[in-house]
Amino acid sequence: MLIREHVPLAPLTTLGVGGPARYFVEAQSEAEVIDAVAFARSQELPLFVLGGGSNLVVADAGFPGLVLKIGIADVSHFTAQDGSVVFTAGAGLDWDALVARTVEAESAGLECLSGIPGTVGGTPVQNVGAYGQEVSETIRELRALDLRSMESRTLSNADCGFTYRSSIFNTTERNRYIILQVTFSLHEGAKPSIRYPDLQKFFADHAGEPTLAEVRAAVRETRHRKAMLIVPDDDDARSAGSFFKNPVVPQSFFEGLSTRLGSRGLQLPSYPAADGRKLPAAWLVEHAGLAKGYAKGAAGISRKHSLAIVNRGGATAAEIIALKDEIQARVFDEFGIQLAPEPVFVGF
Ligand SMILES: Cc1cc2nc3c(=O)[nH]c(=O)nc-3n(C[C@H](O)[C@H](O)[C@H](O)COP(=O)(O)OP(=O)(O)OC[C@H]3O[C@@H](n4cnc5c(N)ncnc54)[C@H](O)[C@@H]3O)c2cc1C
Repeated sequence: MLIREHVPLAPLTTLGVGGPARYFVEAQSEAEVIDAVAFARSQELPLFVLGGGSNLVVADAGFPGLVLKIGIADVSHFTAQDGSVVFTAGAGLDWDALVARTVEAESAGLECLSGIPGTVGGTPVQNVGAYGQEVSETIRELRALDLRSMESRTLSNADCGFTYRSSIFNTTERNRYIILQVTFSLHEGAKPSIRYPDLQKFFADHAGEPTLAEVRAAVRETRHRKAMLIVPDDDDARSAGSFFKNPVVPQSFFEGLSTRLGSRGLQLPSYPAADGRKLPAAWLVEHAGLAKGYAKGAAGISRKHSLAIVNRGGATAAEIIALKDEIQARVFDEFGIQLAPEPVFVGF
């Protein structure tokens, strides 16, 4: 196991800001993960587990402890007795490579999650979702190192406590588990999922049922248009994806705000949610007067997506945070809603 020192973290993230890791290890096996944790403990260092760095803002001062990048990237699949196709992938495998493999195997369940950057092990953390699918719908179980007992355990789907952009891994049990491997239950030959309006529009004139491969291509193309697909030379894709979650507000608050905005000729969009109404954060940002392409120093709002904060080139983490604060303040002043950030802040 090679322990490196003062390793720049910005190039290991999609946003590309922040300082170095004091110590850095890439673990290729469960044994190396355990050794790395033992090293951090022996030196009394804080530990940060890094996947693909696509949901992170790293502080300009960097991280004062050990950054442990998970590199376990094996993958296998078999057909279970109940007919489902079971894919098991190492936490460090590139997420989109797994999705491509499931689509090639004609197995439905992950096709709408095509083109999301990051690793397999990053997806359960915030219950990644897009275009009408969430990983929680197909995760059968996962294997994780429990840092309390230093034993590996299998957690069932129910154990993970999945809800919208949330799981035990980013709430109640934050920093307790290192995810080593995730197992998905997919359906061979099943129809692709075309629940999301953007996808329904895409296939409106399509003769017959689109294939899984066609849905994957449509999702990637739609993401590309919104700079939500990482491709070389697209400045607007130098981001951490959507920077804010869609807020859920109580029904009574929604009704009051709707009436107030209605008197100004504005119709507040919303969707039903378990405990109130979910509001599109993108709409709130735009109607707080912050348009796509807005820039503040080297940080800006994507020209193609009003929820993505982008690094326009050479931005510091401080500039990203200043823009985040401005967006939150303007949305709060305008609507009385506090937007919650989606990325994880490292070293702050
Ligand atoms: C252009 C773009 C588009 C995006 N689109 C979407 C989208 O459509 N939907 C969506 O939900 N998200 C989206 N994201 C956010 C991001 O891609 C996902 O959250 C992704 O799953 C993060 O995985 P990662 O491996 O990059 O994790 P990282 O960013 O490296 O880490 C994120 C968090 O997960 C933890 N973590 C990572 N790996 C492990 C592990 N093995 N064990 C324990 N903890 C771990 C980290 O400690 C950290 O807390 C987008 C991001 C970008 C840049």
